[in-house]
Amino acid sequence: MEFEPVIGLEVHAQLKTRTKIFCGCDTAFGAPPNTHVCPVCLGMPGVLPVLNRIVVEYAIKMALATNCDIAPKSRFARKNYFYPDLPKGYQISQYELPIAEGGYVEVDADGGNSRKIGLTRIHMEEDAGKLIHDPDRPHSRVDLNRTGVPLIEIVSEPDIRSPREAGAYLRQLRAILRYLDISDGNMEEGSFRCDANVSVRPAGSDPLGTRTEVKNINSFKFVESALAYEIKRQIAVLEDGGVIIQETRLWDSGRQRTVSMRGKEEAHDYRYFSDPDLVPLVIDDAWIETIRKTLPELPRARKARFVDNFGLPEHDADILTSSKELADYFEACVRQINAPKLVSNWVMGPLLALLNAEGRTIADTPVSPERMAELLALVENGTISGKIAKTIFDEMVQTGESPEAVVSRKELVQVTDEAALEAIVDRVLAANPSEVESYRGGKTKLMGFFVGQIMKETRGKANPQIVNTLLKNKLG
Ligand code: ADP
Ligand code: MG
Ligand code: ZN
Repeated sequence: MEFEPVIGLEVHAQLKTRTKIFCGCDTAFGAPPNTHVCPVCLGMPGVLPVLNRIVVEYAIKMALATNCDIAPKSRFARKNYFYPDLPKGYQISQYELPIAEGGYVEVDADGGNSRKIGLTRIHMEEDAGKLIHDPDRPHSRVDLNRTGVPLIEIVSEPDIRSPREAGAYLRQLRAILRYLDISDGNMEEGSFRCDANVSVRPAGSDPLGTRTEVKNINSFKFVESALAYEIKRQIAVLEDGGVIIQETRLWDSGRQRTVSMRGKEEAHDYRYFSDPDLVPLVIDDAWIETIRKTLPELPRARKARFVDNFGLPEHDADILTSSKELADYFEACVRQINAPKLVSNWVMGPLLALLNAEGRTIADTPVSPERMAELLALVENGTISGKIAKTIFDEMVQTGESPEAVVSRKELVQVTDEAALEAIVDRVLAANPSEVESYRGGKTKLMGFFVGQIMKETRGKANPQIVNTLLKNKLG
């Protein structure tokens, strides 16, 4: 029997606000433990939470960017559980009435088509603190700086059909959050976390199979590996005549497998109820429309425009729009030099290779878009060859010089003077009579040898097209 995987993802994204969701404490990461706390986020008796307006604005932005319906009236609820990183004994979240429902995210699906992955809901909540388990100490400690930092949880419908599609969905979500500038979306640092739910069912059948949930996976690669492992494991169990147990599992990246963490019986009963400290959240159309006007062009729309307006291949457009900063860089170059594919090749090639090698982002690129455009203009107008351009690029990175400065300092201007090149061609042919004879006798592979000799004479500066034409004419 053929099985089909069914995947639904729950993503927690930390919002980039200056202060926490229900108090004025700073959200900055990396402060000394327990310095960004106050009676409200410590859950002292008698204090009252006050909702941070920016958190709501960010949630509305995400809801609009993912085509959700925004609830005119939503509520906060208490999710009750006891844990050392949760001083109040409950987390303020949203439950029955979340801020947004029913949207979708479009992703490139397997096979090249695009698919809409439905969103069940988006809700706001506060983060918990962080336990620090130091192996050199007899006890664990808690840092409550993160307590009350705002999160949105984005829950997908079980619409995803492969681990690769799950990866594409997560990358798309993260790109949207970053384009909106409402979250860092950094998985390693925990500002973008994913729980992956997965089941399998006979291909073509409707009812959902029993799912397992893999918790706290901290890289895109691990999500895809964990899902692939879980799908194989579930299919093997079913083919063996067994049943899938609904449970929570953990991804062990060292051993490349999932392990059982807790079963359904041990699942928490959170006893949700409306938080009496917070009034219902009312959002009117005027507010939504004000926020809608601030939305930037989103990654998929920008990708489509890059294909349509610049004639770029999908693949290029995909990479160039993967971050807003990279897409801005590309467009800044193209505004100065109207050669989109040339710019694309240089941004995706040498520039990204350099940034990756040095662990930098486009935000601190050593070569500004203006300088890149100047360099490529020299290639376009024939002053330098593409090969020399790479040498100049490397020099620009090293010294911070302009491309023109490197060209004149290193005397790299391409030789396009036909008479001058002809003299060199004649000299090279005269110096290699036996090769000329072999070539004429049919060893046409020697063309490369002649070109090489001429490049050597000109230190790589001869215009290759002219050299080729001259050689072909002379060698008959
Ligand atoms: P919980 O909060 O207990 O994890 P939810 O009902 O909120 O439960 O579902 C969480 C996620 O699980 C959603 O993304 C949903 O799409 C997904 N999901 C639910 N049932 C299945 C299933 N049978 N197979 C795969 N994913 C599922
Ligand atoms: Mg869950
Ligand atoms: Zn506080």
